Amino acid sequence: MKHIKSCAQALNRWILAQKQATHGSESRLSGMVATLLMMVFGMATAFGITPGTSTRPVAVLPVIEDITQHQVTPAETPGVYTQQDTVHSGDTLAALLFRMGVDDRAALEFMRQDPLARNIFGQLSPGKPIRVQHLANGDLVSLRFPRGDDKTLVVRRADDHFQSAEEQAGHLHHVVQASGRIQSSLFAAADNAGIPDSVTRQLSQLFSTDIDFHNDLRTGDSFSVIYEASQDDFDQVKAGRILAAEFVNKGVTLRRVFFDGPDGGDYYTPDGQGTRASFLRSPIEFSRVTSGFKAERFHPILHTWRAHKGIDLGAPMGTPVVSVANATVAFAGWRNGYGNVIELHHSNNINTVYGHLSAFAHGLRAGQHIRQGEVIGYVGMTGLATGPHLHYEFKIGGAQVDPQGPSVPRHATASLSGRSKTQFLAATAPLVKELDAIRGNTLAKFE
Ligand SMILES: [Zn+2]
Repeated sequence: MKHIKSCAQALNRWILAQKQATHGSESRLSGMVATLLMMVFGMATAFGITPGTSTRPVAVLPVIEDITQHQVTPAETPGVYTQQDTVHSGDTLAALLFRMGVDDRAALEFMRQDPLARNIFGQLSPGKPIRVQHLANGDLVSLRFPRGDDKTLVVRRADDHFQSAEEQAGHLHHVVQASGRIQSSLFAAADNAGIPDSVTRQLSQLFSTDIDFHNDLRTGDSFSVIYEASQDDFDQVKAGRILAAEFVNKGVTLRRVFFDGPDGGDYYTPDGQGTRASFLRSPIEFSRVTSGFKAERFHPILHTWRAHKGIDLGAPMGTPVVSVANATVAFAGWRNGYGNVIELHHSNNINTVYGHLSAFAHGLRAGQHIRQGEVIGYVGMTGLATGPHLHYEFKIGGAQVDPQGPSVPRHATASLSGRSKTQFLAATAPLVKELDAIRGNTLAKFE
């Protein structure tokens, strides 16, 4: 684990450096708040998904390494006890405190009188955490209670009296890493690896330009993710942004790293290429290709060999169809064979075509501006169609290309060059090293 530790420390320094460089106002946190790295290796082994094959229990091997560099809480004072509990239904503050070992009339009296502290009485909703420090005789030393998302109400004993204050909630920043293997679905594998849903959603968005998560996933595909998490004063952990991720799909490795560059934060490939999607993989969220792009095919209705210059996406009648990129509507109406059809015009002389629609989006008309992901119509079977599906074409300079082929430009964000690329490579090197380390561990355990 030694090398992991040093990588993690490098990563830790990198995160602090990024925070200080780009969020000067947040650097106030770094003084009182320790950055903690928590390494979680939750790995789910892949087994066959064929019914009837042996199903060994899924191995989940969490290795948690706490490598706190700064002291998280002040050294325990001898004779001072720290307790945390949550508000139960029907609790009074006195009962709650008594349960935690506090028996202090003067403290309760102070909290009833003090304009700030008395807010606690009105906010005792079940499930809220509360943390106290007290002496063996029941005297309150301090009390912490959350107010909203970002503030903590603090009551402290100061010699012979009490003081109240509202503090910015202290957040411990963690970096969590996890990896998993696909057995049935991405969400199942992520669950096995203990990855929160918000992170899994980011993960699928991050790779959606290159991987169609409905059609392209295979058993044995694997992923690793490094993400931020913050822990509040009451040890509640909230997942944040992905810092780096790797996805191995059908043997092809894809990586993304986050970089807070001059134009704001974005994701790049490790060599500095932008990765934001210029065209969505599919105009329908969940669909399967029922007929691919072919130079020639036998037409089921016309009974002739014809080219199929688009792809057919099978989906139930009425499924929303979205624009794959920002566009203007070039045509919306009826065309022979296509039935109700929409043709969208995008930049760089690219057009997309959506055929056999049952209906158009309300008010859709030629010349209208459309945003990427906006609903333009609904799946149907108008024109020459044997069942409900979307016929989708991708045209570059007027000529159809395979919408899932390599001709379709995938990345819209500019690639980094010159000085910003140098900065990018230096800043993201620890993340790449970390991805390498996770991969090394995964191989050692599962190959
Ligand atoms: Zn078709």
